[in-house]
Amino acid sequence: MTRHVTDFRDVRGHHAGRVPVEFHPVRSLRTFEEAIEQIAYAIRVGDLAVGDRLPPERTLAATMQISRPTLREAIHLLVRTNVLEVRPGQSGGTFVISDTVPNGLLQTRIHSHIHAVAEVLEARRALEPEVAQIAGVYATQVDFDRLETTISEQWRALNHRDRLLQLEERFHLQIARATGNHMLVELMKTLHGRLAIAWDIGKRLPKDDEHGIRLHEETLAALKSRDPRKIAEVMDRHLALLEHLWADETGRPRLREPNATPARRSSAAS
Ligand SMILES: [Zn+2]
Repeated sequence: MTRHVTDFRDVRGHHAGRVPVEFHPVRSLRTFEEAIEQIAYAIRVGDLAVGDRLPPERTLAATMQISRPTLREAIHLLVRTNVLEVRPGQSGGTFVISDTVPNGLLQTRIHSHIHAVAEVLEARRALEPEVAQIAGVYATQVDFDRLETTISEQWRALNHRDRLLQLEERFHLQIARATGNHMLVELMKTLHGRLAIAWDIGKRLPKDDEHGIRLHEETLAALKSRDPRKIAEVMDRHLALLEHLWADETGRPRLREPNATPARRSSAAS
């Protein structure tokens, strides 16, 4: 949000309406959590599929610049949650055995509390339609094929809730990747990691699933047209789906109520 110069004076207390300083808990991301996140992400977006073998421990630890015991700790957790399997012997190694990563595996994925979901939905409105329009400019045939494959997998995954939710996220991250902009991919990863709770609570009925997949088909068609207005129109309906599900299920508004944040709105926007 743009701050006016007068607002800074407010913060420093020269005028009335001081904004209270907000401190947050300090949370260092442990290296082993980040190793898990990297492997889990590769599975979630489909870069690693069932049957794929991870690079040897020594190589992977060197690539991630973490110690081998740390990597082993990360792999053990993914083995315990039935995502990976370690097979002994000459043709052995660490293999992917699931195309679904359990939600809540990492703190980052369950970090957003219910009251923060409206903010996440609002942030999504600010970011994702633009991301889709940029993807409409830069997407290649390979990107379109990937999105197509994800949609086919979604139809096959009907009634498999966890898998469907993951494919939902995959579709949106694939759009972000089609922009070719790493910053946008990172922002979308964060955003969608925090949307998981909204999907979890919001999506209850099979018709919601089918509606969601049809919206993906329409989104892909709009991206292929490369027409920014078409993309904006379909993204508006696309994002509204989760917003409505969320509002219906929780009775909470899809966006923050006006005046819900008086502290921030008190600074004069002259
Ligand atoms: Zn979607």
